[in-house]
Formats: sequence, C-alpha cells, structure tokens
Amino acid sequence: MTRFIQGDFLFSAHTGFVSEGVVVCDDAGVVYDVLIPGTHEIPQDKVERVRGVVTPGFVNAHAHLELSHLKSHISRLTGISGFATELMDKRAAFDAYIIAEAIQLADREMYRNGIVAVGDISNNATTITTKRQSSIHYHTFCELMALHPTAADVVMDSGMQLRAQFETAGLGASLAPHAPYSVSPGLMKKIVEENSLRNSVAAIHNQESKAESQFTEHGIGKIQDIYDHRGIDTAWFTGYGRTSLQASLPNLLSSENLILVHNTFTSPSDIRFAEELHERLFWCLCPNANLYIEGELPDFYSFYKAGVRIVIGTDSLASNDSLDIVEELKVIQSQAPEIPTEQLLTWATLNGAQALQLDWAGTFESGKKPGVVVVSDVDRNLHLTRESKATRLL
Ligand SMILES: [Zn+2]
Repeated sequence: MTRFIQGDFLFSAHTGFVSEGVVVCDDAGVVYDVLIPGTHEIPQDKVERVRGVVTPGFVNAHAHLELSHLKSHISRLTGISGFATELMDKRAAFDAYIIAEAIQLADREMYRNGIVAVGDISNNATTITTKRQSSIHYHTFCELMALHPTAADVVMDSGMQLRAQFETAGLGASLAPHAPYSVSPGLMKKIVEENSLRNSVAAIHNQESKAESQFTEHGIGKIQDIYDHRGIDTAWFTGYGRTSLQASLPNLLSSENLILVHNTFTSPSDIRFAEELHERLFWCLCPNANLYIEGELPDFYSFYKAGVRIVIGTDSLASNDSLDIVEELKVIQSQAPEIPTEQLLTWATLNGAQALQLDWAGTFESGKKPGVVVVSDVDRNLHLTRESKATRLL
C-alpha cells in the first residue's frame, strides 16, 4: 500500500523544511517521492496527518551498546580518569544475562527514539545477538588500545579476531583506535591501513578531556591514574609535544572516513589543522556524555562556523540517561541557539548516513529507506522545546 505521510512540516536535508510536505512511501518505508503543496497535487483523502516535523530516521554516530547495563551505576562529573577507572571496576561485575538484557533494552530504546543506524564501539562480542536481530542497522567499530609500541601486533590480531566474529554474524565492522592517549602511532597506522583495504570507516575518541591534552602533550596528569589503576607502567611516555589531535591525525591519514568523537577541547586552530590534513573527517558531538563526565561542552559555534561535517552521537548509557538524538540536539540548541534546526537535523540524518557510508539512509529521496520519524512539540520558529520528542512511524 502506498502511504502519504504529512506533518506540520517535512524535513529532509535535500529539501529543507517544507510546510505540510508529504513523504510518499510503501509500507516498508521505501520512499517514492516528496510532495510539496502548491507544486504537487496532494491526494487529501489518502493523507495520514501527524503533528510535528516528519524527518528521516536518525543516525547515532557514536554509541557503546555493550555498556548499557551501567546505566546509573557510574558517578557523574568525575572527569575522564574517574569515569574510566569506575567503568573498569564495574563493567565486568554483572551477570551475563543482565548485560545481555540491558543491551536488548537499549536497542529497543534507540529504535523507539527514531534511530535507524548506529556506529557502535565494541571491545567484545556481547552485542552480536542483539545486533543480528535488530531492526536498527549497526556498524561495529572494534576498538583497540595499546600505548606501548611493542604491543601493536598482538592487539591488531585480537581486533581482527573480534571483527571476524561480527562479520561471521553478517554484521559490518571495522577497526578503531580508542584515543590518542591510549594508542601508539604505529598501531594507529596499522589500523587505518587495514581499514583502507576494505574501504572502511574508522572512529577515534578525540580531545574528550583536559587530562587527555596534558597527557598527550607532556605525558603528565590524571590520565596517569587510569594506567596506574590497570597496573601499566607509562614512565617511559613523555608526550608528543603537540595537541592530541595534531599529534594523532598524521598517523590516521587515509582516503576513508574518520569520525572524531567528542572534540570537547578542540580549538579552532585544531579544526583548521585537521581539515587541511584529512579530507574525509566527521566531527561527532555527544553533548550529554560531556556534561555527564566532564561538565564541559565543545564550542559548537566554532564547528558550525568552520562549515565542517558534523554528526551526532549518544555515547553509552554509562555516561548518558538516554539514547536519544533529540536530547543531544536540545543541548546544542540551548547552548548555540543561532544554529538553525535544519542544520541540526542534517547533522543527525544525512551527515550520519554519509559518515557510516549508508546510501539508503539520511534523506527522503526516491528509492531510499531512511525510516520515517516525527519530532513533536517544536515551537513556531521550528526550534526544539523541552517537550520535543521523536517517535518512529516507519
Ligand atoms: Zn565513546
């Protein structure tokens, strides 16, 4: 059956907002067309009316589904070292069935909140069952970490084994370095070389904390606590003498997409440096996790003004109260109200689809199957309000 879905507004990155626009699709959500009142004839008797903005489904560019059982178990505002040490202590202290159940629930939560695709960081295989059964598309980033250069080969082997487990289950996966303070230059190079062989996207946490900057520049500060907690000697490490991003990016060059996650302490000169060096960067903002862990936010305007490609992530339930892209956009808009809602929605739909190389998602263009979502309770300027909420229609 052909469906004609009409909100107060239709949004798609290729049309912008269209007052009373109609998306025409089949029952499965495959898009036939977009109808614009005044330009196209609207079959009024067939139209399904909904209140709010009808948008393609959201792409969550950064999550850690495997940490879902830690919701409400990790203290807030302890900074990256407090967060990471508490996470290490608690993540394995739960029964397997509790971990599995929390993963299932988190997947359903994302589906309800209009998320159609996720770039998900994994350190283990606990999410495979849920991902295989889910209506959400997952791209898994098998995460690697080893600061000491001699550990690179062993860690690469384990990452490739984990990737093989996901691929055997029919799930797309690639390798991802954890962060500039936890991965050696040599391991970074191996990872992007391996991904390039398969035209695969990579992701790395970037400039999430002040402590990261201190450690990567000078080899000092609170990151040391994380290594001490794990019993890893880092006395040999004296820093790279440059900002985290400027030290790491030269080791991450490839012609494939690279998602830089968090960017809380990224300066305008870091942005310029990075954009000149790498042609396929995506800057992922996860504001609620930043508020949870560090209590600080990136300078959203500097990214917006630089005109770079931005995507949105929720991070995990270990550092967020929900897995909900609209909740992330609300934080950005409350801090940076001049950024138009159209821009925010483009980041959350088309840009995310491009970052994860998903040609079926992101816009209401003919032949795509991007999901149909309605965002309710926007104000008359089409700004999000406290009550704004996404609901999945298809
Ligand atoms: Zn993360």
